[in-house]
Amino acid sequence: MDVQERITKLRKLIELNSYKYYVEDNPILEDWEYDKLFRELKELEEQNPSLITPDSPTQRVGGISEKFAQIPHKNRLYSLDNCNNYQELALWYNKLLKEVGDLKTQQLSLLGPMYEDLELACELKIDGLAVSLTYEKGKFTQGLTRGDGIIGEDITNNLKTIKAIPLKLFEEVDIEVRGEIYMPISSFNKLNENQIKNNQKTFANPRNAAAGSIRQLDPKISASRDLSIFIYSAIIDKSKNIKTHTEAMDYCKKLGFKVNKYTLCKNSDKAIEFCQNMEEYRKTLDWATDGVVVKVNSIAKQNELGFTSRAPKWSVAFKFPPEEVWSKLIDIEYSVGRTGVITPVAVLEPVSLSGSIVQRASMYNFDEIKRLDISIGDEALIKKAAEIIPKVVRTRKTSNSKPIELPQFCPSCGTKLIEVEGEVATYCPNKDNCPAQIKGRIEYFVSKGAMDIDGFGINIIEKLIEKNYIRRSSDIYKLTKEQLLTLDLVKEKSASNILEAIENSKNVIFSKFINALGIRFVGKESSDILAQYYMTLDELINAKYDDLASITGVGVKMAQSIFEYFKDKENLDMIDELLKCGIKITNKYTNAQNLRLKGLSFVITGTLDTMSREEAQTKLKELGAKTPSAVSKNTNFVIVGANPGSKAQKAQDLGIKILNEKELINLLKGEENE
Ligand code: NAD
Repeated sequence: MDVQERITKLRKLIELNSYKYYVEDNPILEDWEYDKLFRELKELEEQNPSLITPDSPTQRVGGISEKFAQIPHKNRLYSLDNCNNYQELALWYNKLLKEVGDLKTQQLSLLGPMYEDLELACELKIDGLAVSLTYEKGKFTQGLTRGDGIIGEDITNNLKTIKAIPLKLFEEVDIEVRGEIYMPISSFNKLNENQIKNNQKTFANPRNAAAGSIRQLDPKISASRDLSIFIYSAIIDKSKNIKTHTEAMDYCKKLGFKVNKYTLCKNSDKAIEFCQNMEEYRKTLDWATDGVVVKVNSIAKQNELGFTSRAPKWSVAFKFPPEEVWSKLIDIEYSVGRTGVITPVAVLEPVSLSGSIVQRASMYNFDEIKRLDISIGDEALIKKAAEIIPKVVRTRKTSNSKPIELPQFCPSCGTKLIEVEGEVATYCPNKDNCPAQIKGRIEYFVSKGAMDIDGFGINIIEKLIEKNYIRRSSDIYKLTKEQLLTLDLVKEKSASNILEAIENSKNVIFSKFINALGIRFVGKESSDILAQYYMTLDELINAKYDDLASITGVGVKMAQSIFEYFKDKENLDMIDELLKCGIKITNKYTNAQNLRLKGLSFVITGTLDTMSREEAQTKLKELGAKTPSAVSKNTNFVIVGANPGSKAQKAQDLGIKILNEKELINLLKGEENE
């Protein structure tokens, strides 16, 4: 292929992927793969300047969608040039010195002219979506996406829903600021969990989630997503006499903006040191960053250097190395969880990724194997982004790969596996006798968030199961010293310690006890919610399905699972055994409070003036009340705030007593309502 052909092919590929990324917020390529194509095109054009055309992606910025009003920017927005290693960063700096550096007058050197240091401001590069915000006389008037840098998309109303964007500044100034909209990693993970629950498409990364959330036609959707912003540049009136980028940022902070943090570095060596430190530091942050932006601090020097057609010459982005690497799939192993769920795990050729050696990656479920279309021997791209457990992102076929045969039978007990309608997971139904499930349940039962039995490690559990000393959790409380001493790893002292830890665990708080039961879909948080709602174990065991499903934070799937758990005779026998062995359950929610409203159920609808709905619910719960989200015939009171929903009508239809906010406050204070 000749150079012109390759250039044309690269441009087509880059344009297609830019459209997917900027317009549809739905990239197909990984960023580093896109960057590689872009870099190749740039190099080819540099070697053949006659082939550069004004519409080449190397000469342009971003992309623009027609679904929003398109508005020209008052001042152009640019992208950034990248460097991928420290050598490139040093070269960039030396080039700048030659262009705008101040000569050291006294020094002569054989190596050529010597320059004074050129001060740099270094900031983490936020991986989000660039926007420009215009303020007139201190009031937020317009917000545009970067678009193609010349024209932006008008997303003013969506931006107004972001709390970190001030609608009014502390000074009545005219100013344009630029910043990056981002979604915290924790919110991104939650959003994706919800998307999965609602059978909707997940977002590839926090950047796409932020871009997809802010570029919505309905501002309500943007408002429902947790978005924030960091401001990283501003166009400030000359009268303010701002001389450096960092002064500009300090001024923006004073005006009320959430500004990106900067570090001043006196030269490129210091900037490189900063980048090196950030490679580790960034892993502690709850927002995604893909590099460090290095900027010449002096605005006079910035003006001298100017811009190329797509990026400032006075700034460069050092991109962190990708936290992804290719490996080879050696095998798939199937693990059986405590609730019988079968999880495929990819066994990989060991590779180094983000400072650790990776040999295994989660494949989540059988559908994921089909989706990735992976076979044994294929190459697999492993990623360790926000999550701690590495996962397989993509695969590449190899010529002699071997198709994966999904197992039909449980790898632990050989029982035929089943699929449950409406769930993606594949299960082993042999709940009571599958060794892997027994082991998982016991391991969970003794863990910190449950019965918290110290010294009861996985090796001991395995041996005790092997010897048939324990099969269900209650058997732990019948263990004898003699039995423990039959295990090679347990000596006299440790046997005494284990028995003491078992004894100590007998006094347990209700939420931990619920968690210890290992009911499917019920974790630590939901156990706590259940303990707030049901004061005793008996109440929980006898809970009606409708009642369970109406609790905020429980939902139908979990309610079904809890309801079924307590219908199972085997489970009830086990609980009985536990109680007979001396387990004493106390509920911190019962003990702590004066439970004036115990047994009453309140539903809140509409907006309250003096407190949020969540605050009202907490206060009611503290007094022993239940606060389900839906109105049913079991509801005692419906509290109606401003703009109530259909619940107020339903309450009226069912003849349920309605309280206004004042009456609620009286009730909370313990005062009589008329
Ligand atoms: P960029 O993201 O590499 O850098 C420029 C942007 O960085 C600026 O516009 C600004 O919004 C942002 N930024 C964040 N923090 C900043 C700070 N502190 N100071 C200044 N600016 C800051 O460039 P781009 O043009 O937005 O996008 C190009 C990149 O997007 C590519 O390098 C690639 O990684 C990715 N991309 C990926 C695909 C794909 O298919 N995966 C397609 C197109 C683009």
